[in-house]
Order: sequence, then structure tokens, then C-alpha cells
Amino acid sequence: MSHNLTPITIAHGDGIGPEIMAATLHVLDKAGAQLKYEAIEIGEKVYKKGVPTGIEPSAWESLRRTRIFLKAPITTPQGGGYKSLNVTIRKALGLYANVRPCVSYHPFVRTQHPGMDLVIIRENEEDTYAGIEYQQTDEVAQCLKLISRPGSERIARYAFAYARQNNRKKITCMVKDNIMKMTDGLFYEAFLRIAQDYPEIIIERQIIDIGAAHIADSPERFDVILTENLYGDIISDIAAQVAGSVGLAGSANIGATCAMFEAIHGSAPMIAGQGVANPSALLQAAVMMLVHVGQTSIAENIQNALLATLEAGLHTQDIFVEGKSKQRLGTQSFAESVAQHLGTQPTTLKPVHFKPGNLQTTALTAFPRAKKELVGIDIFLHWDEAHRTPQALGNLLEAINIRAFQFEGLTNRGAEVYPQSFPETFCTDHWRARFIAKSRTANAEDIGFSTHSDVIALLEAIQRLGLDFIKTENLYRINGKLAYSTTTG
Ligand code: NAD
Repeated sequence: MSHNLTPITIAHGDGIGPEIMAATLHVLDKAGAQLKYEAIEIGEKVYKKGVPTGIEPSAWESLRRTRIFLKAPITTPQGGGYKSLNVTIRKALGLYANVRPCVSYHPFVRTQHPGMDLVIIRENEEDTYAGIEYQQTDEVAQCLKLISRPGSERIARYAFAYARQNNRKKITCMVKDNIMKMTDGLFYEAFLRIAQDYPEIIIERQIIDIGAAHIADSPERFDVILTENLYGDIISDIAAQVAGSVGLAGSANIGATCAMFEAIHGSAPMIAGQGVANPSALLQAAVMMLVHVGQTSIAENIQNALLATLEAGLHTQDIFVEGKSKQRLGTQSFAESVAQHLGTQPTTLKPVHFKPGNLQTTALTAFPRAKKELVGIDIFLHWDEAHRTPQALGNLLEAINIRAFQFEGLTNRGAEVYPQSFPETFCTDHWRARFIAKSRTANAEDIGFSTHSDVIALLEAIQRLGLDFIKTENLYRINGKLAYSTTTG
């Protein structure tokens, strides 16, 4: 049989990592998983050797060869200079979809939400997590939120394909497109577009803030939730927590060619070395991995054995309840119990049935190239004169007289402060001056268009005034529509 083994890379991790990995591998072995392991070292020891990413080149070779990674949690050392290993791996391997099922195991694991059974599908590469940040003035730092059409379509298609494959009925898209009309609007539009290919799946939209409140309060109402990177990070921890225990939830990070599977919890250093950690989360991650590599019946057997073990009241200390649980087990004996339950179906909890196949969903909608015209420019200024009155800066900028642009006004942290302003509006040292291309028609109301040379002439004029420009942002009209937010909201 050995020629059929699927090679996978594993990392034993830090803290409780080695204990829960040993327990997981024990169950995989007893269930006859057809896997061949390549172990790599990542995490605390590697960071402490002076590798800021926590992963060495030889480990990348293994990951790029096997393309499948089962990862135990690692400890990120305290202090600056260390990069998040997870973010590094997700980006380097193009793992665009983070899949986190959050299920309650009522009445065997204590939960406020007996009917909870939801899956969060989180975009994993973009958003504020692209890691593009700048300190621009003494007082203001900036983080860029990037949302792309292909990125949004890929994750939306993944969510719909996942729902169809797993017999899920509804997808709720959580966004904040009432405020971030362009970025979150683009994400939501991609969702609506892809939804047309999956007419059997019910769709809904919730604004992320009320959506998060609903997850905390009534998670039973959700089936699949699709959301952006930052929102997904936050709501998946809320969902895991309200489901019962962080020690139970596994997660998959899926890309077009590679995938990583892990527990959602960390390395729990406080209980490391005691043999008490719950291995279920990593085991469930391993089950997702088996489905991904096509070993569905082995995955089913393990998952059902885990459910049967929980039903039998055999619990690790994090979910143990006196009078309700039958026996408090350590990490390894819990794994042995799961192994003994292989071939057993749960009777109260719903047995799982997985459909084979790893979801490859990279097809993107073809769009004709857009017609893009430069119709203005925002110039961001670091300006910190005494009293910082918008009027003083506005007067300086009004004096600019060049052919292509008309000065329109100033905002400070997005609030309009010139020509209109309220004395109550607080101003920092970070200003946005908006210049609109002058009309080239007889109608002064028409927005004109300009060129890069016009922009350079404007910047030279700003420089002559002795002002410190820290960034520029081009204003476009795309396919005839203004493609930037207005200063007045
Ligand atoms: P944590 O998830 O390690 O622990 C939170 C709480 O949950 C603790 O009380 C812990 O004892 C408990 N817990 C976690 N897993 C458990 C399990 N399997 N069984 C029983 N109880 C469990 O979070 P933390 O304490 O904030 O972080 C500890 C370390 O883990 C930090 O260095 C952090 O950077 C790292 N971390 C790593 C990952 C990862 O590798 N994916 C994720 C999160 C945190």
C-alpha cells in the first residue's frame, strides 16, 4: 500500500503542540490514514535562532513539495521583530480561503447554543492584513485596506462551492458596505455575481457589527458566513467561543495548489507538558485534511468516532463537567478512546458524511478593460503650523494657480474642514487637499481630465509653497462613473 501514501508536511509546534500532534497522529494511524509524514521545525526555536519569520528555507522546500501542511500551534515570542508565521505561510502559499466550522456538541459539551452549526469562510490574503502600513506624520499612521475583484470572486466562489458540496442551504455575506462603499461594496458585488451560479443557495447580507452580535447571541440562525479577512478573524473567535471550547475547533487554509490545516487555538503554554490538552481541534483539522486529499471514508470514520467519544462522556478537562461527563481523560488517553470508537457511529449527535473532492474554484469572471480617466488628485500633507486652522492652509492652497486643476477643499481624517468647517472638528497634522481637473468644455460644471504631467506641475506648485506632501492618490472616473469617495460622505 505504501506507494499510495499521500506525503504531507507536519509541524509539532510549541507548548501543547507536540502532545496534541502525537495524539492526532495516533488516531490517524489507527484509522489507516494513507499518509506519509515529513516533519519540519517552525516556531519558537526557529524565531529564537534569529529567523524573523519563524520558518527556515528547508521547511519551505518540504511545504512546496507536499503542498499539504498539518500544523500544531506555535508560540510567537514576545517583543518586536517577529513576523506572524501564519500570515507569512498563508501569503507565500496563496492560501486564500480560511474555513472554520463552529459546531456545538450539545448536550455533551456545555454550550448556550445547542443548535449551533455554522461555517465561517474568511478571505485570507487581502484587506488590512495585506500588511501595508505607514507612519505618515507625527500623529497619523495608515494601514491600507486592499480588496480586489479576483480575490473577492475567488473566496465567494469557494464559499458557494463549499455550501453545495456540504449540503449547506444559506450563505450570509457580512460586510460594512454602508460605510466602506468601494472596498466592502466590491466584495459584496462579487458575492452577488457568483451567487447567480448557485441558485439553490439562499443568500443574505448582514452588516458586520450586527452580524457579530447575532453570532454571539443567536448563532443557530447561521449556516455559512462569508466575510473579509479582519471581520472573519474576529467573528471566528466569537463563534468558536460560543460553540463551547476553543479546544474543539479546527480550521483549513486552502489555496489553488496548497493547503494548511490547524487547530484554531494557540500553544496554551500554561497547560503544556501536563498531558491535559484537548487534541480534538487538531484532530478535526486533520479530518478536514483527509477530505481535502480524497480520503473521505477515513475522515468520516475518525469524525464519527470523535463524536461517539464525546457522547460516551469521555472528556478532556476543558470540557469536563462533574456529574455530566463520565471520565476525565488526558490528551493521549482521549486519543486512544477515539481510536477505540473507530467504526462506531454517534447516536444523538448527527453522524457526518463527507462528499469527496477538494474544491478548486479559481474561475473568474472576465471583464473588459475599464475606461479610466484621471479627473483629479488628492494630495496628503503633513502640516503642523501654529493653531492649525483649516482656513490658513486653505488660503495657502487657494493661491495655487495652474492650468489643469481647481482646488476643491480640505479634509482632516475624512471630515470636511475647508471651505466649510465647524470649530468643533478636531484636526490632526494630516490633511487631504483635493484638486479636481478643470473643465475642458464650456460648462464649468463638467469635470475635466488631466495627465501625469499636470500632476507633476501641481506637486511642484505645492513644493514652491514649502508644504510637505506625504502621499498622493489619483482620482479616477472609471467607465464614466466617479471612482472615489466624495469629501462630504
Ligand atoms: P491559546 O489558544 O493558546 O489559549 C487560550 C486559552 O484556551 C487558555 O486558557 C488555554 O489553556 C486554553 N486552550 C487552548 N487550547 C486548548 C486545548 N487544546 N485544550 C485545552 N485548553 C486549551 O491562546 P493564547 O494563550 O492567547 O496564546 C498562547 C500562544 O499561542 C501565544 O504565543 C500565541 O501567539 C500563540 N498562538 C498561536 C496560534 C497558532 O499557532 N495558530 C494561534 C493563536 C495563538
